[in-house]
Amino acid sequence: MASIWESPVQYLKGVGPQRARWLARLGIKTVGDLLYHLPRRYENRSCDRPLFTLAEGDTATLKGVVLLAEEITARTGLKLVRATLEHPEGTFCAVWFNQTYLTRMLKPGTQITVTGKVKRVLGTVEIQVADFSLGEEPTPAGGERWIPIYPLTEKLSQRSLRTVILRALEENANQLPELLPLSLLERGFPPRSRALREVHFPSDPEQAAQARERLALEELFLLQLALAQRRRRVIRQRKPRPCRPDGELVRKFMENLPFELTPAQQRVWREITQDMESPFPMHRLLQGDVGAGKTVVAALALVKAVENGKQAALMAPTEVLAEQHYLNLYPLLEKIGIKVGLLTGNRKKEARQQLLMDLAQGELDVIIGTHALIQEKVRFHCLGLVVVDEQHRFGVRQRTTLRSKGQSPDVLVMTATPIPRTLALTLYGDLDLSVIDTLPPGRQAVQTIWVKPGTLPRLYHFIRQEAEKGNQAFFICPLIEESEQLAAQAASKLAEELRQYFPSAAIGLLHGRLKLEEKERVMAAFRQGTIRFLVSTTVVEVGVDVPNATVMVIYDADRFGLAQLHQLRGRVGRSSKPSYCILVADKVNPEARARLQAFINLRDGFALAEEDLRLRGPGEFFGLRQSGLPELKVADLLRDHRLLLVAREAAQQFLENDPNLSSNLGKELRQELAQRFAAFKDLVG
Ligand code: ADP
Ligand code: MG
Repeated sequence: MASIWESPVQYLKGVGPQRARWLARLGIKTVGDLLYHLPRRYENRSCDRPLFTLAEGDTATLKGVVLLAEEITARTGLKLVRATLEHPEGTFCAVWFNQTYLTRMLKPGTQITVTGKVKRVLGTVEIQVADFSLGEEPTPAGGERWIPIYPLTEKLSQRSLRTVILRALEENANQLPELLPLSLLERGFPPRSRALREVHFPSDPEQAAQARERLALEELFLLQLALAQRRRRVIRQRKPRPCRPDGELVRKFMENLPFELTPAQQRVWREITQDMESPFPMHRLLQGDVGAGKTVVAALALVKAVENGKQAALMAPTEVLAEQHYLNLYPLLEKIGIKVGLLTGNRKKEARQQLLMDLAQGELDVIIGTHALIQEKVRFHCLGLVVVDEQHRFGVRQRTTLRSKGQSPDVLVMTATPIPRTLALTLYGDLDLSVIDTLPPGRQAVQTIWVKPGTLPRLYHFIRQEAEKGNQAFFICPLIEESEQLAAQAASKLAEELRQYFPSAAIGLLHGRLKLEEKERVMAAFRQGTIRFLVSTTVVEVGVDVPNATVMVIYDADRFGLAQLHQLRGRVGRSSKPSYCILVADKVNPEARARLQAFINLRDGFALAEEDLRLRGPGEFFGLRQSGLPELKVADLLRDHRLLLVAREAAQQFLENDPNLSSNLGKELRQELAQRFAAFKDLVG
């Protein structure tokens, strides 16, 4: 028998090509899709209200037997069907608009249940039918009856979808293989067939909720299983040579640091060294809020790789950031005899050629760069460590390409974009997770204020005072996504305006259209403080670290998303001086108002990310779309956090006992994965 994921809905009795097209609009193509198309809510359609208590305007469900049905044309020309129905307490009427074909079905003697608005016509109850069912179709059988209400497209009615789903259940529910291991079922999650029946046609809301939970767990379990398998594929290969315990080079690097590692950094560093010293490649996500100090931990890993005779690569998403890493790390690494190179798209040809040669011959120990690093021409002598900074800016493929330039190298990916833990587990279920959860000491919270453009002169006065104290400021011009050229123009215009306000201050300008050397010159000058104020587009959004900057002004702040605002605010507050983030926005819509208010109230990136998820929903949430993961049909990442953890643990445990999925359940799961997530080759391939 073909599985439910292989049987097209079209061949289900009562569907046919036309309905199949409508169903496809809901994303329902197979019987499996249909069974997992869950109700949005349930309506209680109990039929036990006495007729005389029904008042005009009520919504009611009544059950009766057809006495007479006729087609009528109203004075307005509207065609309607009116049926007179027998009820234990008397007769009532039911009216349908524009569905004259129904007269054929409403033969005298037919049992019918109707739901709709009540009208009182000369004392008689008339129901304007919104939904109905015939005979023993799934609806009220007296007493309480809960009816599923589905997400729909306009063409389909609740009744027809309900009927089709009932049929699919009748034909399949009893033959469906169980997918959850006994250990989970024993915890009280209902079996699969019962869960599917109860979720569509529940005996009561509590059963429905339990059934939904079970199905969500099933979905998450499968997903976690696929991720855990992918992870096993990656780490199964052994490294040619594990690292030795920390030696001289790492110790010297630590000694030269201008600060002590925080306890959180130390903990994470231990986790990383363990991975690097293990015979299997590291596959770790390092998460930490903006400014938490991830770079130094990554640098330690670079040093450790070099200490063990390996080459290491650090990839960053923007030139500005790659170059900053280079400038920061170069002095620290050179000092202990490590050779470092910078590779970005715009390097001069000769310099680049030399660099590539040195890299291939092992003359260079560490290479820092942008996407340029994954080009085919780039070859390593013995790449042993790959670090990817701001990982969410890259796709899975880019990470894999860089990794493939070495022989099972250790991989560390870092993200400052706060991804809620729930989501991280789903998105990166194949990675181990390290979190730097405290900021370096002495940091002060960045004060965030929202001002109207009218008060800008007062604001500028304040910024002038900051500058007199020797502090620096960012001015981020309005977000223009359509074209870099327009964005560049906006930035130039803003710089002009500011020059009039601050005639004696050194103001720099940075945007994507500038030549690389010009960008480098401006950033260098800003870092040294010869440029006081930097007017910029969002090119400085991620990673930029200029501790002397204490003011961040964001124009038209309402156009930015929460994650982006948080990244921008993270550019200040990087020292122990008080810092300010100033949002300039005028008339904003309610949605933007909620976003800005949340931003002002919440400092913690993780809390903000949760809020972002709530405001925008997981589909829109950064990364999920491009992540290459299937969209979840049942589970909700916010609501089902607890289930996700249960699923993850169960999946790992299952694979411990049955690593190749060769037990009976294992085989079943393998097949289910291949069919249910068929479109996600990277996941199940
Ligand atoms: P992010 O995690 O956002 O990449 P960075 O690595 O850029 O953060 O670090 C932010 C700033 O904090 C840098 O200026 C860095 O030198 C500083 N820093 C990092 N670790 C410490 C520490 N343990 N003590 C003091 N300052 C630190
Ligand atoms: Mg960083």
